[in-house]
Amino acid sequence: MRKQNYPILVALLLSSLVAASAADKAPTFSRADLAAATTLRERAFNDATAYQLVESLTTEVGPRPAGSPADRAAVAWGMREMQRLGFANVRTMDVTVPHWERGDAEFTVLTPWPQSMPTLALGGSVGTGSEGIEAEGVMVKDLDSLNALPAGAVKDRIVFFTNRMERTRDGSGYGRAVTVRASGPSAAAALGALGVVIRSISTSSSRFPHTGTTRYAATAPRIPALAIANPDADALERQFQSGKPVRLRIKSSSRDLPPMPSANVIGEISGTDRASEIVILGAHLDSWDPGVGALDDGAGVAIIMGAARLINGLDAKPRRTIRVVLFANEEFGTSGSQTYLAANAAEADRHVLGFEADFGAGPVWRLASRVNPGQLSAVEQIYRALAPLQLLRGNNAANGGADLDGLAKLGMPMLSPDLDGTNYFDVHHTANDTLLQVDAAALRQSVAAYAVSAWLGAQYPGTWERVAEPKPQRR
Ligand SMILES: [Zn+2]
Repeated sequence: MRKQNYPILVALLLSSLVAASAADKAPTFSRADLAAATTLRERAFNDATAYQLVESLTTEVGPRPAGSPADRAAVAWGMREMQRLGFANVRTMDVTVPHWERGDAEFTVLTPWPQSMPTLALGGSVGTGSEGIEAEGVMVKDLDSLNALPAGAVKDRIVFFTNRMERTRDGSGYGRAVTVRASGPSAAAALGALGVVIRSISTSSSRFPHTGTTRYAATAPRIPALAIANPDADALERQFQSGKPVRLRIKSSSRDLPPMPSANVIGEISGTDRASEIVILGAHLDSWDPGVGALDDGAGVAIIMGAARLINGLDAKPRRTIRVVLFANEEFGTSGSQTYLAANAAEADRHVLGFEADFGAGPVWRLASRVNPGQLSAVEQIYRALAPLQLLRGNNAANGGADLDGLAKLGMPMLSPDLDGTNYFDVHHTANDTLLQVDAAALRQSVAAYAVSAWLGAQYPGTWERVAEPKPQRR
């Protein structure tokens, strides 16, 4: 090496020494904890527990919408399975859930070219009465184009929303598209519409329509709202594009029933020296009714229960308590998580780290986080422990999911092993959400990612500090 390079070399040496001493200040995981993480990862790839759980839930309970007899059967299933897996403190937390019954729905194009199309009522939609509703249709893309119409344009009409959801790996396409389902019916009703039909919030080319909650505003009349599948929405667009008047008929026997008892199901792996700190793993037990809820959210239930069972099978016990919560009624208003939050108001700060699984059956493709910047080095160490899974490192603005949203908004740090959502919205909320959609190998890989990160989260030698920045809108 020539003499003139020495200053550069010295500078490089100095900067690496400074970096090393900064890293030394961050607590690092013990060799034993990292070795246990390796054991978890290896065992997960050879463990059938998660698949057996989603198979059992979808076969023995099946569709389990809030308030239904199957919803209560799912609670009994959760209790039985948590006890069978050897979790501690297995218990239920009573939750009152809304009870909406779908009934039957029909959608018919009367003119210019008559045909009927498969349809599903949006969750919470009012019915039409036995006569149905017949009216001229008005086609609009989305809420902005609805509101840009001249006054009176949709009065006494049925509004058809055509906006198409975009396929993305991280589910961001859903967030952009779903406002039509949530707010479209009330927006149209406020302008005098009699009913709404939406293009399903879907990336599929199948004829399965997708349901999902609509939210009525208190300021507008409640009008019936249905969804049709992508190919049928395409065909209906062509009817409108003919320029001929399009007459539509909708019929639905959906109705509200009195609220019903349900429950969150909770089980734990008791902690040791930091047992008062809780690492919470959440998924939801309910499902929409047309399918059996294999992807949404039988797979999430299976991933967190499978991960916790593997941790429970280690020789070492976790330092912090690992709490598995199967939430009641995520789909139709997050009753379970709201009840949980209210019941734990005084102990919210004891929830030091959260994981949610509510985005299908994997594989995990990225590790995102939402932690205090002081613990980013801990996340980096966890990410390195997951290296054989070849994940991407996401940013520190993870959205988490709906059920842990309340705790996250109170500053609970979140780790998010992100499940690949590329194909999730092909079957989400459809009759086609069945066990056949679950890839057993992807599910095992997901369990590996959750088990390793939850274990290390429970063992972290430092403190999981609260997150100061308010959480952004969830997708
Ligand atoms: Zn879900």
